[in-house]
Amino acid sequence: MANDKQEKRKLTAAEKKKNLPESSKKQKKSPAAEPGGCFFVGEPVPAATARERWPERFENQKGGKNESSAGKCDEEEEFLQARCHYSQAQVDDVVYNLNDDAYIKGEEGMPDYIGRIVELFKATNNKFYFTARWFFKAEDTVIKDQSSFHDPRRIFLSNLTNVNLLDCIVSKISIERVSPNVDLDRKEMTIPRCDFYYDMSYSPEYSTFANLPTDNTRASSETTSTISSELVTDGSEDSSSDRESEKSEMKLLDLYSGCGAMSTGLCHGANIAGVNLVTRWAVDLNEFACQSLKKNHPETEVRNEKAEDFLLLIKEWEKLCKRFSLLGNAKLHSRSSNAILDEDDEVLVEEAKTPPGEFEVGKLVGICFGDPNEMGTQGLNFKVRWKGYGPSDDTWEPIDGLSKCEEKICDFVSNGYRSNILPLPGDVDVICGGPPCQGISGFNRFRNYKAPLEDPKNRQMVAFMDIVEYLKPKFVLMENVVDILKFAGGHLGRYALCRLVCMNYQARLGMMAAGCYGLPQFRMRVFLWGAQPTEKLPPYPLPTHDVVSRGNSASEFEQNMVAYDKDKQCNLEKVLLLGDAISDLPPVTNDECRDEMPYDKAPTTDFQRYIRSFKRDFDDCGDSSRKKSLQKAILYDHRPLCLNDDDYQRVCQIPKRKGANFRDLPGVVFGADKKVQWDPNVERVYLPSGKPLVPDYAMSFVRGTSPKPFGRLWYDETVATVVTRAEPHNQVILHPEQDRVLTIRENARLQGFPDSYKYIQVGNAVAVPVARGLGYVLGQAIKGICGSEPLIQLPQSFPFCLGRICDTKGAAVIRQTPTD
Ligand code: SAH
Repeated sequence: MANDKQEKRKLTAAEKKKNLPESSKKQKKSPAAEPGGCFFVGEPVPAATARERWPERFENQKGGKNESSAGKCDEEEEFLQARCHYSQAQVDDVVYNLNDDAYIKGEEGMPDYIGRIVELFKATNNKFYFTARWFFKAEDTVIKDQSSFHDPRRIFLSNLTNVNLLDCIVSKISIERVSPNVDLDRKEMTIPRCDFYYDMSYSPEYSTFANLPTDNTRASSETTSTISSELVTDGSEDSSSDRESEKSEMKLLDLYSGCGAMSTGLCHGANIAGVNLVTRWAVDLNEFACQSLKKNHPETEVRNEKAEDFLLLIKEWEKLCKRFSLLGNAKLHSRSSNAILDEDDEVLVEEAKTPPGEFEVGKLVGICFGDPNEMGTQGLNFKVRWKGYGPSDDTWEPIDGLSKCEEKICDFVSNGYRSNILPLPGDVDVICGGPPCQGISGFNRFRNYKAPLEDPKNRQMVAFMDIVEYLKPKFVLMENVVDILKFAGGHLGRYALCRLVCMNYQARLGMMAAGCYGLPQFRMRVFLWGAQPTEKLPPYPLPTHDVVSRGNSASEFEQNMVAYDKDKQCNLEKVLLLGDAISDLPPVTNDECRDEMPYDKAPTTDFQRYIRSFKRDFDDCGDSSRKKSLQKAILYDHRPLCLNDDDYQRVCQIPKRKGANFRDLPGVVFGADKKVQWDPNVERVYLPSGKPLVPDYAMSFVRGTSPKPFGRLWYDETVATVVTRAEPHNQVILHPEQDRVLTIRENARLQGFPDSYKYIQVGNAVAVPVARGLGYVLGQAIKGICGSEPLIQLPQSFPFCLGRICDTKGAAVIRQTPTD
């Protein structure tokens, strides 16, 4: 395993500076003035043992440096050579053993830092040193200012060490190791009396909080010769209990599902890895998104409601299940894996006479939390099918008004429980979702920098984490815009990580560019993994296509970029271009209105063949008419957003060449100051409507510096990022050679949606190939076969693969070299 490698890997000075808790970058005290206060105790460790255990200390790598005075600069630590090692030292009348934990002097006026003494030695310069392995307080990790939620007694063991003068040891502390547990009350009972406790490791690499290896118990004084092994995710067998993932279904809840790109990709990727992951439930506020998802995934229980109402609903649902004694009796109430409750299923209704003029409840056919009748009161409601009436007369009734219908409620809840219409705590294996954070969008002029979470537009991040906290899925994947790491010092990103860590989930954060996974679109997004301590923490899939590399900037989160290092040779596919994705589609005009049309050409690239060939997974939903039409090669949704007359006439005048845009229209000059101006010699041109050919907004967009208005794409380009509304005023969205914006299908392809996917809402969606890659590594984690490395390679055949890849050896684990 990579453990050994990493154990031996030395931190460069720069890495140390960057990664250590603020505390540890301290000034060392000058060597002890009176050696009486600070010395080693007992016999030296036998030379052979010491050489074996601390080989670096005898390597004599940079001759000459050894003798330089200690405590001057970090670089010297690497090269401090030992005369001899000890297993005990005395500082200010207190005896310290190897593996004792201690406060270690911080900078003047700063709190002391916390470390474990892992080496005690007298250097060749005759000074006394110890090596500290650092613990991180939550505020020293990437969580930083969000740590106020965090139990201050909980600290994280890191793998980072450095050498200090012996007299930097301040005092002993008791630190206990406990088991992480998402049942926080249970865990609390296991925490012994101590100053601090730890249950996880922290590594700045991809901001990873992970299980400690099972054998990494603190070495007792008798076993001081055992070097505590490197800290990584638990790699032992027992963490992956009997995995039935191949046969049994893993249930996914997609929150803020949109039309389901993220869950579609995740399930497909997991299937490729041999895991039967199924989107069981999806929640979205937008009715059209829900319709689209349902159409493409009839097997999913799609809930068209706010996530915050969904949370209140599932809490009520648990109460109802308890009320009707359904919980805790699995055998008695066996549950189906099919979440669909057919509203027309006949539920036996006892016949009773309805007095004339009164309506009688026939059966209950739906449930929601909220205010469906807009009466101004929130609460639990049932959808009632009235006796003698059809579905079109169904109404929502508050539960209080149904007090005489206990039996019907019981029927509904029992059926719903059996068919899993709503998840109960523990039912969900994976929650995925991208809670919208519109409060940090660059388009929002009223962004709240001081307290982004107080902005109602950012509250969905809280709702998402509240749902995770309540349902306690095994795995979590949260997607978001990169701005959550930039806006207000990364407040929202840190919050999300902190919530997971506080819930005792393992967590790690990475940024992925869609273009790296075989799409002609750049689209960078943040992906945050969470995994219960009983599971493996999923890694990130390394790029398959050459788009970005890591190590170009020094910003804190640049290190979280999922990419190969910039100087690393790797065999990546060449980047996909717009032409590769759309050149096989028939020409259409601005006013094309057909929903369907035939393909008129055969696919010419791997991407085109792949995107056209989906029959399984995406299309295997029993909708035989669609299956048939796919066989007849029918192309759906290849029509553009129809431009109005004025815009259409403008677009017709944009030349059909690379880089063309509104600056090519008559009367516009591009000045030496890199801004557009009116040409004083050209009279302004007007359209038949009386509007100007070149609109003022194009001239003033980004103060005249932007080439985007009415920009044409070209076949050899990668699109920046597709947005929700394909209109040409402020983005480059015109077809290279046709006078129109890209069609729904073309945009869908830029997001990696298979051609069989219908009624797509593209702009918001997660790029399907990215989600697919993440699904694959999730599958590996579910099966318990991924290691502790933050990045792994996808199998070579992965990018355009439709079926399952059985050869897990293909997913060879590779390690990244440190970047600094
Ligand atoms: N992950 C999706 C895209 C999500 S876009 C995909 O990959 O396809 C964000 C979605 O959040 C939108 O569809 C929007 O309708 C939905 N949304 C916004 N606020 C919501 C809320 N309060 N509750 C539920 N859904 C919400």
